[in-house]
Parts: sequence; structure tokens; C-alpha cells
Amino acid sequence: MSQITQQSKPNDVTTTLPEFGKAELCAALDEVMLGSLRPTMGVLIALLLILIYGYARQPQAIAVPTIVVAAAALAVVFVSGILLYLRKIPARYANPLGAMIALLVLLQRLVFIALLRDPAPTANMILTFVGAGFLILSTPWLAGVIGSALATWIWIALRSPAAPGWGENGFLLVSATALTVIIHLARLDSLRRQELLRFQNESRNRELEQRTVELETFYQAERSRRLLTETLYEVSHALSQTLNLQEVLDLILGNLARIVPFDRGSVMLKHDQVLEIVAAWGFPPASNPLQIRVPIKEEDVFQQICDSKRPLIVPEVFERSDWQQVENLPQARAWAGVPLINAENTVIGMLSLTRETPRAYTDDEAVLALAFAGQAAIALQNARLYSELEEAYAQLERLDQAKSDFITVAAHELRTPLTVIRGYSQMLVKAPEIKRVPEYTEIVNGIFEGALRLNDLVNSMIDIAKIDSQILQLYLSPVSLVDLLRELLRGLRGVFQERNLTLCVSDAWRLPLIEGDMDSLKKVFYHLLVNAIKYTPDGGTITVTGSVLPAGTHGIPSDSVEIVIQDTGIGIDPRFHDLIFTKFYQTGEVALHSSGTTKFRGGGPGLGLAIVKGIVDAHGGKVWVESQGYDEATCPGSSFHVVLPLTQPKQNS
Ligand code: ADP
Repeated sequence: MSQITQQSKPNDVTTTLPEFGKAELCAALDEVMLGSLRPTMGVLIALLLILIYGYARQPQAIAVPTIVVAAAALAVVFVSGILLYLRKIPARYANPLGAMIALLVLLQRLVFIALLRDPAPTANMILTFVGAGFLILSTPWLAGVIGSALATWIWIALRSPAAPGWGENGFLLVSATALTVIIHLARLDSLRRQELLRFQNESRNRELEQRTVELETFYQAERSRRLLTETLYEVSHALSQTLNLQEVLDLILGNLARIVPFDRGSVMLKHDQVLEIVAAWGFPPASNPLQIRVPIKEEDVFQQICDSKRPLIVPEVFERSDWQQVENLPQARAWAGVPLINAENTVIGMLSLTRETPRAYTDDEAVLALAFAGQAAIALQNARLYSELEEAYAQLERLDQAKSDFITVAAHELRTPLTVIRGYSQMLVKAPEIKRVPEYTEIVNGIFEGALRLNDLVNSMIDIAKIDSQILQLYLSPVSLVDLLRELLRGLRGVFQERNLTLCVSDAWRLPLIEGDMDSLKKVFYHLLVNAIKYTPDGGTITVTGSVLPAGTHGIPSDSVEIVIQDTGIGIDPRFHDLIFTKFYQTGEVALHSSGTTKFRGGGPGLGLAIVKGIVDAHGGKVWVESQGYDEATCPGSSFHVVLPLTQPKQNS
């Protein structure tokens, strides 16, 4: 902790020095020195001129050497001054230069003293000492200057005749030396601190600037991320809301332009060896972008994207010799292509983003565009699936129509010969010649029963054909469901006995009359009862219940009756609860069915429940099945619910 505090102390030179480096500090001090030299030069020139003037009035023996030295110093100062003014002297020569000038000034003083053998001008040296201590920022150079001047002075003093002034001036000169050293060290230290503080300040400023840039980049990235999330959400929302491919692709390009700016963008799909534009953004209206076709060439940008399955950035299209510029479009400069990859991981096309200025796309922009390309690929896939689905539906409809046509034709074609067979076999059954021979009777009875079953089948086919073509006519009258069920059950009594089935009828006998078509409704309950018998093993129970439901129940506006035919049979898998009401639908293996209309698992054409549904629907009612599942061992049973309105809506004639 204490270490940290020490390190962060701003004016601690020794601890912060290594942070910036000694060389940097020396260079900075050299700069300061150079800066101080400039104004000093002017003053020195003036001083030296005055001195030269002063020396000129001395006797020649003294004047000439001192003037020569002073003139030399003046020349050095003058030339250096000009060079400094022109900024021709590098900062590292500032201290040697300062030292040289100080030496020259001191030299002409020393020459003067030596020639006069008089210590009086020593006072001028003291001034120069102090000035040098203030000016020179290099301790070795200062030591060199002061040391050599002091040594020369002592040498002159020792060789001169003894006089009281020498000792006094010598003492002054030594004191001036001490003062010079103190001034020099104090200035050096304060300048060092000042420079170090400046360094620290600069480095903090740099750090601050960097942080600001980082922060700005972060906010920029955050803004882009938010925009990206918003726009992608908008696109995926549109994807789930509409199947209009054009609308979705236009939206994708428009939103992408908000995040990755481009002048024109397009979704291009590959067709054989050509790229077709299927959506365009930013193209000149006259260019008719959706008509543009670009041939795919070997090794061109699209081929490259296909091979790598990654975005491709072309910073300057002029640098690509294979660039294909589409006529009538402004010249492209920077370009990025992003692959459109389908669910089978195949490149089906690309997002082409063009800038008309030489501002290259960045990798980040390419990655952003990739997210939008993913959405475009989904939209294209959806559109393809949708059109395939539409085609499949159309095919199914055609097949269904063919099936319905076949049923209609077959039913009508079978009807006439069947009537003949039925009529003649009935006559034969009654003929005394046949009755006499028991084998003949059995054969003819067989033919007659077969004809009756065939007749039922043909009638079912005709019913289904009418339901399919929506021409089922209802002849409405008050119908007693009680009588209707009673009559049907009476007809099936023999079967119940034969199959050892128990019949329970509860509440059904208290039902009101309903408005409906008697014959059609008979078929409804006939098929349901026969099915209950067929799919219930011997010894099972079939229960018929009935109840009145208030208006609004099961979505039927008027009051209604509900008849439930429940069996203890093999049950129906919930997956097929809706499908069994479609024509020809049979669960289980058809080959396992036994023959006979009321035998256990007796075969049927798969038309019964389709007829039931068609007739109940025509009455404005509802029919459905409830069963826990299919199991021949545990026989969970099934309940068929039929809801019929009491009244039918009035027909407008
Ligand atoms: P089918 O002529 O085959 O009986 P349906 O249209 O009447 O034709 O019935 C369609 C299918 O529904 C039947 O093949 C059978 O698998 C199933 N099904 C109908 N009623 C019952 C039932 N009561 N119990 C179990 N399965 C039934």
C-alpha cells in the first residue's frame, strides 16, 4: 500500500524517473537550455559590443588581446544566435554551446586580468559564473567551465605580484562558485520536477484520450449492437408475419443499410451459371435492377464466396481485373459480398453491397451483413417451402378430385348391372326350381347377399361423391332420434346376439324431436353402431346415451341433442382421431381385417365415418371421437359424440 502511495506522489523525481526514462528527461532539459540560449544571445551581443568599446580605450598591449578574445566570443555568439534563430542547432548541442560561450566570455576577462595583473575585473567573472550556473543545465559542462576558469584565475594570481586584492577577489570567486553550484543544482532540480510533472500530465492526458476513445468505441459498439438487435428483430418479426418474399427481402436490405451503409445493395440468386437480382435497394429507378443478370465466371468474386462460404471484401474494385461493372449503373468502388447459405449448407446466392466511394468495408461490417444474409436465406427457404407446399396441395387436390371422379363414375357404372344382379338373384331365390335343390338355394342366396352388400357399398360411394361435391340434399322433417335408434337397434338385434354383445341404452329415449333428414341421419347412426359392433370383441358392451344441450354448447347457436355411442372395443390412437373422418382412411393393417360387416374387425371401405361427418356437418352439427388409445389387449374403448341442432336455419327461397 505504502509503495503505491509513494509511486503515485507526483513530485517524487527519483521514483517517477524510470517511468519516463532518463534519456527523455535529458532531452527535455536540453530543449529548455536551447530555449534559454535564444534570449541570452541578444544580451550577450550587446554586452560584448560594450566591452569591445571599453577595451578599445585601454592601452594597446591590453586592448588588442582582450578585443581579439571578445570579438571571437562576439562572433561565436552572433553565428550561434543566427543558427539558433534558424533552428539549425540541435538541442543536444545546447549545453556545449552555452559552455563555450561562457568560457569565451570568461577568457577575455582572464586575459584582461592577466595583462593588467589586477584582480579588480574578477567581479565581472563572478557575474558570468552566476549567469552560467543559471544558464547551463549540464553539471559536467558547468563544472568544466567554472573549474577551468577558476584554475586559470588561481594560476594568474599565483604568478602576479602579491597585492591585497587577490585574496579578497579569490574569496569572492570561490563564494561565487559555491553560489553558482547551488543555483545550478536548484534550477536543475526544479526543472527536472517541472518536466517530470509535464511528462506525467502528458501521459495522463494521453491515457485519458485513449480511455475516451475506448469509451466512445464501446458506446458506438453498444449503439450498433442495439440497432442490430432491433433491426434483426424487425426482420424476424416480418419473417414470421408474412410469406411475401419480396416484402421481406426489401425490409432486410433497408434495415441492413441502417447498420452497414451502402449505396446500392441486392439479393442475388444463382441460376445455372448466372446471378439474378431478386431484391434491390438504392439502384437508380431507370436501371430496372430486377432484370439484371450477371454471368458467373471462373474464379470471380461469387466463385470465391462459394468456395469459402465466407464474406468477401473488395476494398477497391479497380484492383480486380475480373470485376464486372453492370452497364448503366454508377461505377462501384468498394464492395462486399456475403453468402446466402441454405439449410443444406449450399451457397444459393449472395448479398451484394456496393459503395460508390472508395470507403472499404470492415470485417465487422461484413460480420453484421452475415446476420442479415442468414435472415434472407431463411426467407428464401420459407418461400421455396411454401411454393412446394402449394404445389403439393394442388397435387393433392388434383388427386382427391380424381378419386372423387372415380367414385362417381364407378358408383354410377356399377349401379345398373348391380340392380340387374340383385333383381334376378332375388327372383331366383324365390323360384321353385331353385328352392327344390338346397345347394342351388345356398348359391343363389350367396349371390343375393353379395349383391346387397355391393349395393350398400355403391350407395356409400354415391353418398361420399355427393358430400365431396357438396350436393348432398337434406329433406328436412321432424325426426325422432328415439324411433330412429330403436329401429336401427332392432335391425341389429340378431348381430348383438350372435356376437354376444350387451346393449345399454340410457336416457336416449327421452330425447326431443329434431329437425333433420331422416334417411341421412339413419346412415349416421347405422355407421356408428356398425363400427362399434365391428371394433368391439365378442362379449363387449355398447352404450347409447342421449342428452339435450343448451344453445351455445360446442359452438352450436341453438339448443341441441348429443348422442354418444360408447363401446368397449379396441380403441383409437389419439393421433388418428381426426384422420378417421376422412374418406378411405383406415387405421391398422387392412390385410388383417376379417370380412363381414359386423364381424369383429370386419373390413370396410373406410367411407363410413366420412359419410357420418359429411351428414352431421350438413346438419350444422358436430361429431368427434374420444378414446384413450388403441390397444387390442386391454380394449380401452371409444366414444363417438354426435351433436345435432334441434332446429335448422330457415332457407331463403
Ligand atoms: P371402415 O369401413 O374401415 O369401418 P370407417 O370410416 O367407418 O371405415 O372407419 C374408419 C376407421 O376408424 C376404421 O378403419 C377403424 O380403424 C376406425 N374406427 C371407426 N370406428 C371405430 C370404433 N368404434 N372403434 C375403433 N376403431 C374404430
